[in-house]
Amino acid sequence: MKVVAIPLRTRFRGIQVREAALLRGPGGWGEWSPFLEYPPEVAEPWLRCAEEAAAGDWPAAVRTTVPVNVTVPAVDPDRAHTIVTDGGCRTAKVKVAEPGQSLADDQARVEAVRDALGPDGRIRVDANGAWSVDDAVAAIRLLDRAAGGLEYVEQPSATVEELARVRRRADVPIAADESIRRAEDPFRVRDLRAADIAVLKVQPLGGVRACLRIADQIGLPVVVSSALETSVGIAAGVALAAALPELPYACGLATVQLLTADVVAEPLLPVAGALPVHRPKVALGQLDLLAAAPDRVAEWEARLAAVRALREDHHS
Ligand SMILES: [Mg+2]
Repeated sequence: MKVVAIPLRTRFRGIQVREAALLRGPGGWGEWSPFLEYPPEVAEPWLRCAEEAAAGDWPAAVRTTVPVNVTVPAVDPDRAHTIVTDGGCRTAKVKVAEPGQSLADDQARVEAVRDALGPDGRIRVDANGAWSVDDAVAAIRLLDRAAGGLEYVEQPSATVEELARVRRRADVPIAADESIRRAEDPFRVRDLRAADIAVLKVQPLGGVRACLRIADQIGLPVVVSSALETSVGIAAGVALAAALPELPYACGLATVQLLTADVVAEPLLPVAGALPVHRPKVALGQLDLLAAAPDRVAEWEARLAAVRALREDHHS
């Protein structure tokens, strides 16, 4: 196992440095990068994803490229404009409802993104579950107008029940993210008709094949998104997006751009708004260059041991 620590370009999800463990197996490298606050039971499916990658056990691809969105963190309008212009994608996902910011901040960011994309681009927003039902309905109406039409709103409120209520009152499609990957039962979203779109992330959901099964059973169009991985982890998301029978929306897999460095020689960055379907080669020199400090490596080794101990407990 190698552990890397990579600074982010912009503070994202409350962190400024992304740490990731890379595991090597007969089929190549797999990424295990559960966020640091996640306990062993949450980090366990993330490990299954890395092990699947390291075993080289991915399904066959049915396409050669995957359309992707540029991700716009909760930055000011000028920065948002630049990110979209530099991103070269026709779809933008805009973070909204950031703690400490106002709806006016979100509106200004969305307007800047529309300006940068032009009239044909698509804009989706992600509230990470921050709004109440009433706040969501009002915010969606305002941001839909600011965007000149939103493609969808991701996780406007926290619970599946709230998502269902927002969905019945809003005129914009609703995507479920946390309601699937953090749920005891991802299929409640389907059963309560709480969403129009399912966002799937390969690490929290236990790997590419596990996500393919969910996609098959949930009966909703799927958007594959990243968990802010290096290109090694992104390749697993690309493998899922490449294997899905239908892929009607751009995926949230262009997030290597948010990192200041990567562990491969040729990072999985979009070309003309799409990622190539392939598995980039790990650059061993980069692993050394980006190696985490010894105390951090020790913590990751302890986390790995804790997940393995948890599995032992479940088996005995
Ligand atoms: Mg999300």
